[in-house]
Amino acid sequence: MDLWFENALLPAGWAERVTVRIAAGRIVEVLPGTDCTPGAERHRVAIPGLGNVHSHGFQRGMAGLSERRGRPDDDFWSWREIMYRFLDRLTPEDIAAITALAYAEMLETGYTRVGEFHYLHNDIDGGRYADPAETAGAIVAAAEQTGIGLTLLPVFYAHSDFGGRLPKPGQRRFLSDLDGFAALVEASRAKLPADAVLGVAPHSLRAVTPEELAAVTALTDGPIHIHAAEQVKEVEACEQWSGARPVEWLLHNAEVDARWTLIHATHLTDAETDRLAGSGAVAGLCPVTEANLGDGIFPAERYLAAGGWIATGTDSNIQIDAAAELRALEYSQRLSQRRRAILAPEGASVGETLFDAALAGAGQALGVETGFAPGAPADIVSLNMDHPSFAGAIADTLLDRWIFAGRAGTIDCVWRAGTLRVVRGEHVARSVIANHYHKILGRLLG
Ligand code: ZN
Repeated sequence: MDLWFENALLPAGWAERVTVRIAAGRIVEVLPGTDCTPGAERHRVAIPGLGNVHSHGFQRGMAGLSERRGRPDDDFWSWREIMYRFLDRLTPEDIAAITALAYAEMLETGYTRVGEFHYLHNDIDGGRYADPAETAGAIVAAAEQTGIGLTLLPVFYAHSDFGGRLPKPGQRRFLSDLDGFAALVEASRAKLPADAVLGVAPHSLRAVTPEELAAVTALTDGPIHIHAAEQVKEVEACEQWSGARPVEWLLHNAEVDARWTLIHATHLTDAETDRLAGSGAVAGLCPVTEANLGDGIFPAERYLAAGGWIATGTDSNIQIDAAAELRALEYSQRLSQRRRAILAPEGASVGETLFDAALAGAGQALGVETGFAPGAPADIVSLNMDHPSFAGAIADTLLDRWIFAGRAGTIDCVWRAGTLRVVRGEHVARSVIANHYHKILGRLLG
């Protein structure tokens, strides 16, 4: 199959009149400066699909349900109690239905692969399902129904706090021991679709001991993801336990390198920022969720100047929007520093700089090639050039317009592994997926 675009964002920058040749879901050839042949499908402007490095699919079902002011000191930890009560009721079928809506929405906004940080493993009473990968199967079903690329990150979770504290009742659906987790990883592997990637995710330094961290990361040569330094209270507890901050501890005690993605990494000293940037790991930033939960602001300017890798994630899925994550990242810097156009080198487009960084970082974090390159999956997004946000647009302002000025309707088509999944901004199975979601939420919340 050939797709032809008036303009496409290639690794070297914007190019005109680009033919993209696709076979077996992958890009075979990219030919700028070519005419549209009769067999090719003609479109306007193409950008590569982005990877979403951090999602908890089921949390889409509680989006907007925890926005009422409770205690004066409401924070991440009180939100977590609400989240625990919501997930207490979910069956594997519920998880599949809610996650399918989240994945359809990801595709509609330009995310073509998701890193699912999957920790809801056990039955409602905390017992193991007969199949240890029962709920992983629900995630796979959602990925197959929507067509999104999947990097599955089964989560190891064993403790409630630093120093191997006993877990709390609300955490019973997450828990594994090391043998059980190894079985869960293998059972998950057997269910994966063709171009899925399998990694592991030790949940956080709160939830795993150093010995468990070493054992879990030895289970795979795929990506390793961990939550780190999202909350000040977590940083203080880590210092009390070990004398080091979470990212400092990881950099000293684990071999943090290009296989690793540190999710959030919000609270960093300058020394941690520079060392993390030099480690080759990715900082998996989730600025919309971090704003919603009142987490804090990542030191992005210093980290990018030091050569650090970033990618974005939708985490709690409070609002799924690839452009919004990049916008929130830049705006958090502007609000805290009272300056403009911060996260780009002098003279460069902020939107394009952040998009390029997030594209490369997500590829590394999710274990896949990205962009318009031979051999990469044919994950392609076309922009709706009839949208007023793009009026009169010349190519090198398009990403700034998409990220900073666009609203709903800026995306036209999305191909995932060469298959058309979004047409005129809407997922091809949206009505089926949304109807099922309405039914499930009606029962859960009714
Ligand atoms: Zn998370």
